[in-house]
Amino acid sequence: MKKIYGIIGDPVAHSLSPVMHNAAFEKLGMDAVYLAFRVSKSELEDAIRGAKSLGISGLNVTIPLKEKALSFVDAEEVAKKIGAINTIDFSSGTPVGYNTDGIGSLRVLKETTGEIKGKNVLILGAGGAAKAISFYLDTEGAKVTIANRTKERAAQLASNLRNADFIGLGAELKKHINASDILINATSVGMHPNENATLVSADMMHPDLVVFDIVYNPMETKLLNEAKRAGVKKIVDGVKMLVYQGAASFKIWTKEEPPIKAMEKAVRDAMIRDY
Ligand code: NAP
Repeated sequence: MKKIYGIIGDPVAHSLSPVMHNAAFEKLGMDAVYLAFRVSKSELEDAIRGAKSLGISGLNVTIPLKEKALSFVDAEEVAKKIGAINTIDFSSGTPVGYNTDGIGSLRVLKETTGEIKGKNVLILGAGGAAKAISFYLDTEGAKVTIANRTKERAAQLASNLRNADFIGLGAELKKHINASDILINATSVGMHPNENATLVSADMMHPDLVVFDIVYNPMETKLLNEAKRAGVKKIVDGVKMLVYQGAASFKIWTKEEPPIKAMEKAVRDAMIRDY
């Protein structure tokens, strides 16, 4: 029987996950389909129970449900520490929750810079994505600084990590970027429809900085544009992380090796075609 997977969230209509996972199923010749389901916070518990009853094999969870969904699954320890899930696996009968956002970002950074241990990493943002990313980098032995508009949230997040500091987005930001090896934008700043926004401009960067923007819509954000202007050699867009977090979910559900290249091509083609 055809297996059914999907993503729940609100809004969810423009998610690139269906195109990415359906390309993977097609590439591997699997009899499976991946759909988007709009689910509000108040319907979340019913949706997870209903998915289990209907025999849905796996779900991704996106904004604004990632934190709340934790209450309705058996979550792995890492997801509990992060405080959010983005993946549910139904194969054992009980819904089991995972968080693959951090795994995706770590894979991107290891591919780009190699060893993470000992690197100074400045993360812009203290929301759901920043929590997942900072948890993995902290565990790998990076020296993480959280910079957030709401400084209290940065302080809170840093206090949950082993070796992290926090700052606001004021004048101190430039000094900290100067001392950083890696800069990650994990805020929604620069995302469509505010493509002209960035928290960091070219004059605040140095050429040896790795600049990674997790925003993928548009693929080339204003921040990445500024990094190019500053002569930054290693620039990474958000599509890679999207693909790697999706690939990690795919592996949890299917136990198959995800066809990364086909998944990335499907996402980049859809971005060019539809956005
Ligand atoms: P979130 O939980 O809502 O957090 C948003 C963060 O952005 C907060 O730290 C918030 O600061 C900050 N922010 C928002 N508007 C700002 C502004 N005008 N100036 C300064 N800071 C601002 O969102 P999220 O789930 O972490 O997602 C963040 C972004 O990452 C989104 O664009 C999402 O699409 C993207 N994302 C990409 C991937 C991927 O695979 N590539 C995965 C997950 C998320 P305050 O705390 O001060 O409000």
